[in-house]
Amino acid sequence: TKFRDGLAKTRNSFSTKINDLVARYRTVDEDFFEELEEVLISADVGVNAVMEIIEELEMEVKRRNIKDTKHVKEVISEKLVELYYGDDQEDIEELKVNDDSLTVYLFVGVNGVGKTTTIGKLAHQLKSEGKQVTLAAGDTFRAGAIDQLDEWGKRAGVHVVKHSEGSDPAAVIFDGIKSAKSKGSDILICDTAGRLQNKVNLMNELSKVKRVIEREIPDAPHEVLLVLDATTGQNAMSQAKTFAEATDVSGIVLTKLDGTAKGGIVLAIRNELKIPVKLVGLGEKVTDLERFDADAFVYGLFA
Ligand code: GDP
Repeated sequence: TKFRDGLAKTRNSFSTKINDLVARYRTVDEDFFEELEEVLISADVGVNAVMEIIEELEMEVKRRNIKDTKHVKEVISEKLVELYYGDDQEDIEELKVNDDSLTVYLFVGVNGVGKTTTIGKLAHQLKSEGKQVTLAAGDTFRAGAIDQLDEWGKRAGVHVVKHSEGSDPAAVIFDGIKSAKSKGSDILICDTAGRLQNKVNLMNELSKVKRVIEREIPDAPHEVLLVLDATTGQNAMSQAKTFAEATDVSGIVLTKLDGTAKGGIVLAIRNELKIPVKLVGLGEKVTDLERFDADAFVYGLFA
C-alpha cells in the first residue's frame, strides 16, 4: 500500500484520463488511439515507447476483435508490463548480494536527485533486515554531503567512514572497504560525487573508484546504482544516458515518484536504456524506499 500511496499522483492523473477516454469513446477507433497516445505521452512514458505500444495495441485489438474501449484497458496494462520487461522477463529485481564476503553498492548521480537520502533509507532498511552496514562518504565535493551522510548513518545506527571535504573519493572508499571488512560488515554502501559538467572527468573519477573496489574485492561493486529524480522527466533520461556511457550502471533508483504525475518515466527508462529500475523513492521519510514491482506499478495505474 505504500507503493500505492506513493504513486497516487501518477495513478490519479492516469486513471482519470483513461477512464474519461473510455467513457467518451465506448467503441475503439482511430481517434481513440490518437487520444490514448497523448495520455501516455503526458505521463512521460516516452515518445518512442508510446509509438511502439500504440502500434501493438492496434494489432492486438484487431486480432482479438475487441470493439469495446472498456476491454482495451486490459490490453493496455498487458502492453505496459511487456514494455517494461522487454525481452527478459524477470520478476521483481532484487539487489545483488555476495553471501561469501563483503557486498559493495556504489551510488552515482547528480546533486539534488536524492542520492544521500536514498543511501540513508537503504542503510536503515538493510539494518532492519539484520545486516551489518557501513557507509563510505565518497561525495567529498558537494558542501555538506559528508555531514548529511553522517546524520543518516547515526539515524540508521550504522558506521560511516569519512574524510574531509575535497579529499580523494577513491581514498575514502578504500578506507571504507578496510573498515567494513575489519568490522565484519555484510554491506558497504559508497556515495560518490555527481559532477556532470564534463563526461571525461566523470568517467575518470568513476573508473578510479571502481578500480579501487575491484582490486580489494574481485567481483565488486555488486551494484552500480544510478539515482534519478522522477520529477525531472526527460532530463532524468538524458542524465541516465550520460552515466550509462560513463560507467556500467546495473540498476536505477528513481526518487520522488510521490512528487510527480508522470511516473511513466519508469517504463521509458527501462525501455530505452535496458537498465532495470531496482528501487523507487516514494517520500522523504526513512521508510519511503521500495523495491520496484512493474506489475504492481502498471496494474496500480488502473486501480
Ligand atoms: P543528493 O544531492 O542527491 O544527495 O540529494 P539529497 O539526498 O540531499 O536529496 C535532495 C532532496 O530531495 C531532499 O530534500 C530530500 O528530502 C528529497 N528527496 C529525496 N528522495 C525523495 C523522495 O523519494 N521523495 C521526495 N518527496 N523527496 C525526496
